[in-house]
Amino acid sequence: MLNIILMGPPGAGKGTHATWIEKQYQIPHISTGDMFREAMASGSELGNKVKDIINRGDLVSDELTCALVKERLSKPDCAAGYLLDGFPRTIPQAEALEKMGKEISRPVTLVVNISCPDEELIKRIGGRRVCPKCGASFNVNSMKPKVEGICDECGAELIQRKDDNEASLRIRLENYYKSTQPLLDFYKERDLLADFDGMLGKEKLKVVITELLDSKK
Ligand code: ADP
Ligand code: ZN
Repeated sequence: MLNIILMGPPGAGKGTHATWIEKQYQIPHISTGDMFREAMASGSELGNKVKDIINRGDLVSDELTCALVKERLSKPDCAAGYLLDGFPRTIPQAEALEKMGKEISRPVTLVVNISCPDEELIKRIGGRRVCPKCGASFNVNSMKPKVEGICDECGAELIQRKDDNEASLRIRLENYYKSTQPLLDFYKERDLLADFDGMLGKEKLKVVITELLDSKK
């Protein structure tokens, strides 16, 4: 069973790899960042609540985030596996996920961590452009779209995320090291952690991650 958490600092490639894993293994990609951004774009109550927090690079409360994930993981399409991206990000979230996983009989079976040095993350985030419509991610330096400024997947105009600026990124990286990195030990202790080098390049990484996931299917 592939009940996966995809982990790594902002810019490590979680979204990029989630996109092909979702297709290749037919499991839903659940990105809390995407869910929050959709809520912001639709102007819902949740969106308005989290907008300022997200744009400045801070973390949304554990309570709000866990409630969102629990609802999503309980849906029928997660019965045959799921791919969490950007959740959990704190120890209380990991504990909540462990509890809900038992309650709904969908426990995490694997944690795929992609590590990457800060200087590379800063470079990647600076060049990142995303599709507001389908969520696809590009980079003006390293992963250019076929037509400048246009999404390869759906043709929408690419944008720069509001939190992809230097000040917000600094806060996101601080939060990552302080709150999220300790999760690696949490999952190592549970024997669920697999570590990958985010500097490997997209295609090579795809090969090694595929090998692992095939062995866990
Ligand atoms: P990143 O590129 O930093 O990995 P994400 O798209 O995963 O970005 O998340 C964007 C923002 O959404 C985060 O900086 C945070 O404000 C909020 N967010 C997403 N997931 C969580 C979470 N699990 N807990 C708290 N906040 C979250
Ligand atoms: Zn698109």
